[in-house]
Amino acid sequence: MRTYKYKIQNHKRNHHLQKDLHVIAHVHNHFVALWQRHYRIYGECEGYKRPSAFRMIKHLTKLKRLGKYEHWTIPYSWVLQECIQRIDKGWQNFFAKRAKRSPKFRSRHKYRSMTFDGSQVKIETVDKTHGCPVAKIRINRRWYRFWYSRPIEGNIKRVTVKKDFVGDWYITFTTDEKGLEPAPKTGETAGFDFGLKDFLTCSDGTKYQSPEFYKSASKLVKRASRVLSRKQKGSNNRNRARKDSARVHLKVNRQREDHHWKLALELVRKFDVCYFEDLNLEGMKRLWGRKVSDYAFGDFMQKIKWQAQKRGKHVVQTDRWTPTTKVCHACGQIHKFFHLNIREWYCHNCKISHDRDINAAINIHKVGASTFGVEGIRLASASTPC
Ligand SMILES: [Zn+2]
Repeated sequence: MRTYKYKIQNHKRNHHLQKDLHVIAHVHNHFVALWQRHYRIYGECEGYKRPSAFRMIKHLTKLKRLGKYEHWTIPYSWVLQECIQRIDKGWQNFFAKRAKRSPKFRSRHKYRSMTFDGSQVKIETVDKTHGCPVAKIRINRRWYRFWYSRPIEGNIKRVTVKKDFVGDWYITFTTDEKGLEPAPKTGETAGFDFGLKDFLTCSDGTKYQSPEFYKSASKLVKRASRVLSRKQKGSNNRNRARKDSARVHLKVNRQREDHHWKLALELVRKFDVCYFEDLNLEGMKRLWGRKVSDYAFGDFMQKIKWQAQKRGKHVVQTDRWTPTTKVCHACGQIHKFFHLNIREWYCHNCKISHDRDINAAINIHKVGASTFGVEGIRLASASTPC
């Protein structure tokens, strides 16, 4: 499974995509109301059986024949069927107590994406514009052009058209292609420690910094949200200010993503197995706030896992409860917890001074290797604190 994302060229005709989204939102709300009414009337009855997606889809086909709902006939009927199946799943979750509440109504202005079957789409490549290849796709009787920045490999399974908060349209193709590109084995393994001072510390002593993108853009973010808050609700100016604010956030996001991908690729190429600590991100966010969100450790982990899978390498997360910071990697002595400000400490047992993060990274490497069975090292058992 591999996805390809392209930007649809800005054009007047894109407002037709918006119209299609409105139709889908309308259908969504219509069926949410139908399901809710059914539940209100019969929900209390014994052995209540909710209407199935199958029945609702049959109902939809009937409705489409009526003059009132004529505009619902989107050529990709799959779009509407998927919408109904999603509501049905919501109800299933509600009855199984996996969800707290039943599917709710959604504003058509907040309905942002539509998905349809990939086997029906038609794509044609067009001549290059400004040196970049362009292709066009037929959606709902109209051709839309998008920047065809790289060729699609494999069979297209699903297509998603999505509008972002700035108002740009993107198209995503999900293919059955596996996308494996094995990287040569280096025979190296390493442990990594996440930190607030240095983004990543490797067990070989290298420290990887992360530019704090949000922090450096915080002035712009503040200004944009201040401007937004002063605009009258519902006005065009407010909408414009909202887009400006979204654009600032989008840039920060993209900078961070780019940095994450590059670092993940670098590490995966360098090491065969990377060991990380399983972090309690929610707890860290509560303790240290914005900086943790700015570093986005969780997102980075997802990216490096994907890179490792793609390149035939491994990423292992060690147990959260194993002590790594306060254990001396040389003798295994467990020390008392020390404050975050202490970056270096001295082990009285084996007379070595340690860098806090490098010591932790080495411990993570040891614990990970012992569980993964690569090097057969086991962390020395605990002894009395010194
Ligand atoms: Zn020691």
